Amino acid sequence: MASLKKYRARRDFKKSPEPKGGKPKPSKRPRFVIQQHKGRAMHYDFRIEIDGVLKSWVVPKGPSLNPRDKRLAIPTDDHPLEYARFEGVIPEGHYGAGPVIVWDRGTYRNLKAKGEKPLTMKQSLRRGTIEIFLNGKKLKGGFALIKTADRWLLIKMRDKYADARRKPTKSQPESVKSGKTLREVEREGKK
Ligand code: MN
Repeated sequence: MASLKKYRARRDFKKSPEPKGGKPKPSKRPRFVIQQHKGRAMHYDFRIEIDGVLKSWVVPKGPSLNPRDKRLAIPTDDHPLEYARFEGVIPEGHYGAGPVIVWDRGTYRNLKAKGEKPLTMKQSLRRGTIEIFLNGKKLKGGFALIKTADRWLLIKMRDKYADARRKPTKSQPESVKSGKTLREVEREGKK
């Protein structure tokens, strides 16, 4: 069963604005969120709802729409579903200190749910062969999260939404929640 123990153990909810979250409870339409986060280094947190929690990967370079790009994705702690709305500044001295924005979010579909050998998201996760269709504000189309011998990779699948020229991390840097950039959220946090 999914657990938020690690997530909670690493945070002091009296001092960090991050949500503690309730009991893991799957929603009717599973969601995803991509947060841009300037912690020790700039990165994107790619989170997809599985089993009532947000399974999470740190993607240093963020997602690409070019199927040739294989973006390193480092698994990290499960986060509560409530985290999908989180935007703000994690205070200094705390885990992940720095600004966070909701760079993209929406719902997703398990592309392996049907077919000859259907797989649930949980099974795909265990095998390291996730294929999902994202319905976000910025990202659309099929994405694969693949576990190789020593790492996970995030790869745009080949479909009509693949686009080697469009670079949404550059051309659309603003939050889909507030319209603010990471820098603006950071600056406001310092006031
Ligand atoms: Mn992060």
